[in-house]
Amino acid sequence: MTRYNNLFVSHKTKGLLMRRKAVRAIFPGSFDPITNGHLDVISRAVKLFDELVIAVGRSPIKNQLFTPEERVKMIEEIIRRTRMKGVSVESFDGLTVEYAAKKKADVILRGLRSLTDVQYEFQLAMTNRAVAGIETVFIMTSEQYGFTSSTLIREIASLGGDLSNLIPENVYERLRERFKKRRP
Ligand code: ADP
Repeated sequence: MTRYNNLFVSHKTKGLLMRRKAVRAIFPGSFDPITNGHLDVISRAVKLFDELVIAVGRSPIKNQLFTPEERVKMIEEIIRRTRMKGVSVESFDGLTVEYAAKKKADVILRGLRSLTDVQYEFQLAMTNRAVAGIETVFIMTSEQYGFTSSTLIREIASLGGDLSNLIPENVYERLRERFKKRRP
């Protein structure tokens, strides 16, 4: 027996594990702002991939509330607080497949909430595979986040609704600050 990553394994198993290629995934999205739904997908993904890069798209999105820098900062705070291993965050410009190639990513990760998501995500995944040969891996969210979207979060926050079950505390604080400033 010998040690490998705090495990006692046979020499043969250690050899196999050491030869295994680390799998790097990127999780691209707008994350405006990140929700518990995104985090649910991320918490499942860390068990499957050796490295996960949360990639915040810089391309202008409709009704953008937070700048890419603000979105990255909120995610960094969450990674630090939850002590998630192998997870990092950065922003990116342009095509997801080009960014994936630059990061030498093995797969693109996307989250699924419902059958409505499947149609769009299927098309996106097929296109990305056709143009860049990259695979997309889907993770289904928990039922309780099946209806959570950043768009809805922004709308509810603008009307002063209670979002404590749907978004992390630091995001909630930032939303409250943002809408306090906007209200007369
Ligand atoms: P995009 O604009 O690229 O769709 P989003 O930030 O809205 O960016 O979403 C990023 C990814 O996270 C997408 O794959 C989306 O389907 C997924 N996602 C969004 N909300 C949830 C949720 N509540 N549960 C699981 N996955 C989600």
